[in-house]
Amino acid sequence: MKRALTGIPITADIVRRFVAGETRAELIEVAQTLLNSGRMVSVDFLGENTTDRGQADATVAEYLSLINDLAALNRPALPGIDAPPVEVSVKLSALGQALPDDGPAVATENLRILCTKAAQADVWVTVDAEDHTTTDATLATVRELRGEFPWLGAVLQAYLRRTEADCRELSGPGSRIRLCKGAYREPHDVAFQRANEVTESYLRCLDALMLGDGYPMVATHDPEPIADAVDLAAESDRGPDRFEYQMLYGIRDAEQLRLAAAGSAVRVYVPYGSQWYGYLTRRLAERPANLTFFLRALVSK
Ligand code: FAD
Repeated sequence: MKRALTGIPITADIVRRFVAGETRAELIEVAQTLLNSGRMVSVDFLGENTTDRGQADATVAEYLSLINDLAALNRPALPGIDAPPVEVSVKLSALGQALPDDGPAVATENLRILCTKAAQADVWVTVDAEDHTTTDATLATVRELRGEFPWLGAVLQAYLRRTEADCRELSGPGSRIRLCKGAYREPHDVAFQRANEVTESYLRCLDALMLGDGYPMVATHDPEPIADAVDLAAESDRGPDRFEYQMLYGIRDAEQLRLAAAGSAVRVYVPYGSQWYGYLTRRLAERPANLTFFLRALVSK
């Protein structure tokens, strides 16, 4: 049994609140349930920071099988929404970006393999954002492949001081940007540290994306930017075919359903796999209140 940052043992029940399961079969069941509820999905096969070429190749193989299985899901119609309801999210560090010598080139080539398969299956791909030392290499990979796969998405983190400028640059026609606050511990010179500064940056970035010509993906659980996105969508005449809300599996489920019932496009980021430890500790670090949930789950066992 693994231990979280706090020393609390993480049981299977706790993992299952935020992670769809360790196997693809468990993930597929969860994904179908979410699709049936009027939401869309973005699936992440958990894993990051690979320094082994064989591991990177195994990740590519798993994603190819995943895309196959996702393509076979029943996709209930979503009125007014054109986006493919199924997406995969991928970390370039899981595809080999950190390998010595030619890591970024290996990751780019692996991503090309995934995108080729995804295009055949009508599945979107979005590249997750990792710590700030990878931002330039990740955006370079996305830029390179968008010539071939114009629908390829990228994630920008509002806590980075550079991101407002990145949002302006990447708000052009066809650009698909997922805006999140950011989940890594970053130094002061590259990232805002205080929660209110991060939220203010998020709102400025959201402005740039929503008033631009791309396809913004508003990835937050915070009520303030969500309300702001509603206003900006009205101001810029954006219907549910031109932007979407995104939230993490297991967080603010009722709000996800409320937005979807109101006709908005809502996508749930669903992780699965055995490498859940890093993902789960980031969820815990950003919301210590989850500790209460962890403790309750332990007591009730
Ligand atoms: P917060 O200020 O953290 O939270 C606002 C409110 O949301 C809280 O008051 C609470 O009500 C609720 N809430 C937030 N977190 C939790 C939680 N864990 N449990 C329960 N309630 C909670 N980060 C990256 O660095 N790279 C990525 O590629 C990336 N991809 C993401 C994709 C999606 C679809 C989403 C939704 C997030 C992603 N993140 C990513 C994580 C993101 O950066 C934040 O760490 C996370 O979303 C929490 O920030 P928040 O915007 O929800 O606001």
